[in-house]
Amino acid sequence: MSQQFASDNAAGMCPEALAAFVKANETGHEDAYGVDSWTDKVCDRIREVFETDCEVFFVFNGTAANSLILAAMCQSYHAVICHEKAHIDNDECGAPGFFSGGSTLLAAQGENGKLTPDAIVELVTKRDDIHYPKAKAISLTQSTEVGTVYSIEELVAIGDVAKKHGLHVHMDGARFANALVTLGVTPAQMTWKAGVDALVLGGTKNGLPVGEAIVFFDKDLAHDFAYRLKQSGQLASKMRFISAPWLGLLENDVWLNNARHANEMAQRLYNRVKDLKDIRVMFEPQANGVFLDLDKPVREELWARGWKFYSFIGARGCRFMCSWDLQPQTVDRLCDDLEELCS
Ligand SMILES: *Cc1c(COP(=O)(O)O)cnc(C)c1O
Repeated sequence: MSQQFASDNAAGMCPEALAAFVKANETGHEDAYGVDSWTDKVCDRIREVFETDCEVFFVFNGTAANSLILAAMCQSYHAVICHEKAHIDNDECGAPGFFSGGSTLLAAQGENGKLTPDAIVELVTKRDDIHYPKAKAISLTQSTEVGTVYSIEELVAIGDVAKKHGLHVHMDGARFANALVTLGVTPAQMTWKAGVDALVLGGTKNGLPVGEAIVFFDKDLAHDFAYRLKQSGQLASKMRFISAPWLGLLENDVWLNNARHANEMAQRLYNRVKDLKDIRVMFEPQANGVFLDLDKPVREELWARGWKFYSFIGARGCRFMCSWDLQPQTVDRLCDDLEELCS
């Protein structure tokens, strides 16, 4: 299939991840269930990258990673505060509630797909009686579901509110690297130094074959976590094939280069279409997604011409995701079509 914009997981694995995967197969037999030398090495590398002694786990996908972290943070009667566009609330089929045995999500509104301290405080302080779930965690997505990025100041402000109200902070980092290169900060600054207790470090959309890493900065939350992984069917027996490809991403800044390229493709798209007459750009693109408000005939003509993209934001919003391997020529061809249809 030709290159597309429906999701950044339409792309395959990057050569460096593939090379690490193949190499992990060439060392012969290894111990199973995550006590192999590859998994050890990747965990150490992640601790180096984050400059702290964190606990690291590997799971098959983001839904499991988010849900299991939130389950570790919440009892069944607790609630998680998230944005109304959050993946955990819209695209995980109730998994966060399921894995925690009943905790609920409290969705807040906020400009540009972002939670604000005020919106959080409003939800935390709305009720304090026994008849309403007790807020116990904040979940934020970096970069967000609408292609924007929280600044460090915004993250720190949310971290401060969390501390004040006794809430854990979970970060859904399905597109963590995209935000990192936009801000030009260190992984530590964007996480534990800003008050994040646990992170889903996204690999799949960055060039891995499969799998996300779970990083606990608050190690108390990782207590007995391995049992949760096993019980939920997320403990890979040949763990090395999920962990080893991470080495390919994390050596020589491959993960950052992949993310930077994807972000640049989004900017290339944005710059060519932002001034077209019949197009409204819905959010300032700060990562690798561009959201366009397109008239129905334009949308349908693009689909008829074979372009793939989703249109699930609001009534008319169209999402164009740029992957790590997207070619500039693909962006240009889409822009040619948009120019023809919208000027
Ligand atoms: C893609 C994505 C995930 C992970 O989804 P899975 O399909 O479960 O791997 C999580 N959060 C966000 C914001 C995403 O875009």
